[in-house]
Amino acid sequence: MRECDFLIIGAGIAGTSCGNWLSRDHSVILLEMEAHPGYHTTGRSVAVYTEAYGPRTVRALAKSGFSFLTAPPSSFTDVALSRPFGFLFIAREDQLASLDAALGAVQELSPDISMISPDEAAAKVPVLRRDYLAGAFLDPNALSLDVNAIHQGYIRGLKSHGGEIVCNAAVSELTRKNGKWHVTTPQGEFAAPVVINAAGAWADVVAEMAGTGTIGLVPKRRTVIATIPANVAVDDSWPLVMDTDEEFYFKVDAGTVLGSPADETPVPPQDVQPEEIDIAYVVDKLQTATTMEIRRLQRSWAGLRSFVADGVPVAGYAPDVDGFFWCAGQGGYGIETSYGMGRCSAALAVGDDLPADVRAFGVAAGDLSPERL
Ligand SMILES: Cc1cc2nc3c(=O)[nH]c(=O)nc-3n(C[C@H](O)[C@H](O)[C@H](O)COP(=O)(O)OP(=O)(O)OC[C@H]3O[C@@H](n4cnc5c(N)ncnc54)[C@H](O)[C@@H]3O)c2cc1C
Repeated sequence: MRECDFLIIGAGIAGTSCGNWLSRDHSVILLEMEAHPGYHTTGRSVAVYTEAYGPRTVRALAKSGFSFLTAPPSSFTDVALSRPFGFLFIAREDQLASLDAALGAVQELSPDISMISPDEAAAKVPVLRRDYLAGAFLDPNALSLDVNAIHQGYIRGLKSHGGEIVCNAAVSELTRKNGKWHVTTPQGEFAAPVVINAAGAWADVVAEMAGTGTIGLVPKRRTVIATIPANVAVDDSWPLVMDTDEEFYFKVDAGTVLGSPADETPVPPQDVQPEEIDIAYVVDKLQTATTMEIRRLQRSWAGLRSFVADGVPVAGYAPDVDGFFWCAGQGGYGIETSYGMGRCSAALAVGDDLPADVRAFGVAAGDLSPERL
């Protein structure tokens, strides 16, 4: 039986970012069911930071990490965590009201985000069909992220503080005895007064093992294709282009177009794979909105974005059992919010309030609490 102060279940971006901060003053062991951390959602994102996407609390959490992502401490990484980018929301004629509403919602926190003309948008991304485009707004502060560098930085931080990650350690049983959780895995038994549930799409499954109420987490499949257009050259400096109603998006990375149908199909937690119909849909959307001809795919993949009802991540102690802490529901924002969420989770787990910079953006502990659900 190995013991520590905090046992974290799941070594994706949620578990490792929380563990990085928690391990500074406490003993921490992370249990990961796969052979490598990051095998599931964290390793499958499209790696973007924008202040123009998601509920207000999510945008505030992301914003609290901007300085860290653009100028990280040298102790965290020796490579850049991000490169400047842009995030362009576009609309057809029939979507202009929706574009206006989306812009209005995000300008309160991020006044730099503003409307640009369709001509300016087409100049930024020359493959956009001018007759498709009726309106656009740009987040000029968006970033393209190096997810591996961010994730590895959290893991290095955790280890340098004496924390440990145990892989191939799927948690199959959780029992509360004498003020401690006893956790069963193929790597042996572990015990701690607090378990942190950072199991991504499996977070409700872990809660059921512990006999606590679930949070109504819904894992949703999202598909990505990687393609090099047959007829035009693409450029890494182009902003990501997203349809304002999230019907599709694309980003150029290392000379390759990453396109997504922005699908949100609810599925049980699993090692999810792409479906032909979603691939066909995004190819059609890209060829309708742009002049890119797509003849073959380099590859395609899918990942699970897991949401609770209000789309805001969950961090806080379960109200109905002792020592069970939620760190889940990162949805489509877990990488960009990891600096904010990691610090918030670690603070709440030890009984502190949220960090002052997060509170300054108007986020309170109750906004993240599982009790709101
Ligand atoms: C296509 C796509 C694009 C995205 N794009 C972006 C983006 O541009 N920007 C952004 O910020 N976010 C993006 N996201 C979202 C982001 O990737 C997720 O929010 C984030 O990775 C979730 O991290 P996590 O640690 O909660 O989950 P995961 O990375 O899935 O980690 C959970 C871990 O728990 C482990 N686990 C589960 N059950 C057990 C158990 N019983 N025992 C032990 N271990 C267990 C799993 O093996 C897994 O490794 C995207 C997601 C997808 C799918």
